[in-house]
Amino acid sequence: MDATMADGTALKAPQDAPLEPPIAATTASEPDLALPAEVVYALVCSWKGQKLDVNVVASDTVGDLKAMLWSLTSVPVDRQKIVGLVKGKLPGDEAEVVSLGLLQGGGAPKPFMMIGTPEGEEHREVGPTENRAAEVDIDYTAAQAAASAAAQGVRNRRKLKETIDSVTLDIMNPPRPGKKLVVLDLDHCILDTTLWKEDNFVAEHFARPYLHEFLRAVSPFYDIVVWSQTSWRWLEQKLMELNMIGEGAQHQYNVVTTVDRKPMFNVYSTRENGQPHKHEVKALGLLWAKFPDFYSSANTIHLDDLSRNFAMNPKNGLKVKAYKDALFNTHTDTELVYAARYLLQLVNAPDFTQLDHSRFKKAAKYPLPLPPGVVDPLTWLKKDDEAGPPPPAAPEGGGGAGEGAGDAEGGASAAGPSA
Ligand SMILES: [Mg+2]
Repeated sequence: MDATMADGTALKAPQDAPLEPPIAATTASEPDLALPAEVVYALVCSWKGQKLDVNVVASDTVGDLKAMLWSLTSVPVDRQKIVGLVKGKLPGDEAEVVSLGLLQGGGAPKPFMMIGTPEGEEHREVGPTENRAAEVDIDYTAAQAAASAAAQGVRNRRKLKETIDSVTLDIMNPPRPGKKLVVLDLDHCILDTTLWKEDNFVAEHFARPYLHEFLRAVSPFYDIVVWSQTSWRWLEQKLMELNMIGEGAQHQYNVVTTVDRKPMFNVYSTRENGQPHKHEVKALGLLWAKFPDFYSSANTIHLDDLSRNFAMNPKNGLKVKAYKDALFNTHTDTELVYAARYLLQLVNAPDFTQLDHSRFKKAAKYPLPLPPGVVDPLTWLKKDDEAGPPPPAAPEGGGGAGEGAGDAEGGASAAGPSA
């Protein structure tokens, strides 16, 4: 090869003509044979859950890399945040891309990540802000005494009062006299948001199995509040996509209001190792104060995958398993079937705080009466069995799905006209 021209610096654009590559004087029919062969780095950039192939050559600059990412993603260069190539601040656009250290120990290209919103999609850039980083959960169903102490703290009661005084809730549907209240968490309780950054994230595909069956079954007896540690925009958008609210909603559930992160305040709990732990809480006292004629600790049940959210009201909390693998669990997750059945059993309970909600799946085995005339939710599982999909997993702690459902066979059709 023409070693005389192999000096990389000769390939840089002169400073007074930055827009013109140095080979501009060469026509296509007369290629610049003096150009040295350059090493190509086949980089892989993660962005919004996608893997992008980005091939740079040794003489490319950091600015060239950004321009490539722009063309691949429509994220303008000034909005790109490139993570994983260098520690700390990225060098200037004029720096050679090789100065980033593109190879890792074994010689393979370093994978890296780009964060940024494409032009024109800024309004879509809302998402769950639930603090999953602080995954520490506190098992209030096993440590209710500690939680009660938290609930009684003067400081926490004052925080609650300040929240009640400062927060206004928008009413979507008025509360119905005589109904009980179910408070539903959104993320990982009725919806798996793990993949929400995918462009094709459609909430309905990631709804927890049996969500609408659950809502249909409990709606005659319960009003609904959805409370999510997130922004109201994301929350209401997802509820629309889930067909739970809005004019296009296929089913009219009595969703009284939604509550976002704003009314959540910090409390301090004690972990099992004795360490104090600060976290936000969903204090149901807010709802009881806003709707005193309708809801109280005696008739409110709160479904959530994080029991630390129950800290102020541990006896009203029903912890469900976090729903995180929507792509794999659609035929096996039965949490809402058992929750629906339990909530129907609760209809006859005078005071919800007198029951141990952690046993909600086992309650299927006990003869707590269901309200007259309702179809036992366990028959939903039976129907699925007949339809072909894999059978649902048995709930924890025994009590197979088939148990109890056996008697109910034909229950759905028992109401047919007789003679
Ligand atoms: Mg959650």
